[in-house]
Amino acid sequence: MVSLSGVRVVLCRPSHPGNIGAAARAMKTMGLADLRLVAPEKHPAPEAQWLAANALDVLQGSRVHASLAEAISDCVAAFALSARPREWSPQVLDVRTAAARALGLGGKVAFVFGTERAGLENDEVFACQYLVHIPANPTSSSLNLAQAVQVVAYELFMAAGSVPARQRKGRAATVEDLDGLYAHLEQAAVGSGFLDPQSGSRLRERWRRLFSRLELEREEVNILRGLLNALQDPRPK
Ligand code: SAH
Repeated sequence: MVSLSGVRVVLCRPSHPGNIGAAARAMKTMGLADLRLVAPEKHPAPEAQWLAANALDVLQGSRVHASLAEAISDCVAAFALSARPREWSPQVLDVRTAAARALGLGGKVAFVFGTERAGLENDEVFACQYLVHIPANPTSSSLNLAQAVQVVAYELFMAAGSVPARQRKGRAATVEDLDGLYAHLEQAAVGSGFLDPQSGSRLRERWRRLFSRLELEREEVNILRGLLNALQDPRPK
């Protein structure tokens, strides 16, 4: 059985504290413990405690972050949950495939959920490397937030029993490493005239999608950044 201790659940701007408590309970039933809240509307609140039931430890151990970037920066991958397909998104996986992929990565991973009212914003989706959907009735596919957490937690629990531990050679790049690479690419693309920042080009989304398919190692990110540095400031031959 693969350990679930590296799996994190991130709730972005949850508005109902009851859902925070119910999400903590959903996690606890499936052996997850790392709950993060990004800018919750009302927290702490008694409704959260009522719905957490026997998962008060998960609720009380949760951490609050000001931004999504802060909540996932040390993870090797973040999985955005959305009921809505999007025209532009990172690679799309169903929840079962995503659970197996996440546990095979060999590092901390985050599953990121949106607000009850509007779901995740586009820039939140693009801060993640995968877009995950829970297959559901096409005419009514939006689950309650805590119920969506329950389905993800269940799939992770089931996958943990069957996914072989990954034999990685190098250390996986973290979200923070990747963000550094994207910022560097953008600087190089704008500086060289390749990208006009006003053009409304989808270049940024494209390279995020490209690199998220590769499961880069930290060393590989360093090679790419070293090359960018050399191209930006060529040494005389
Ligand atoms: N009204 C929102 C949905 C909010 S449901 C919308 O239209 O996007 C709250 C959160 O639960 C979503 O942001 C998403 O993270 C998760 N969720 C609900 N149903 C889902 C589904 N079918 N697949 C994946 N995630 C889902």
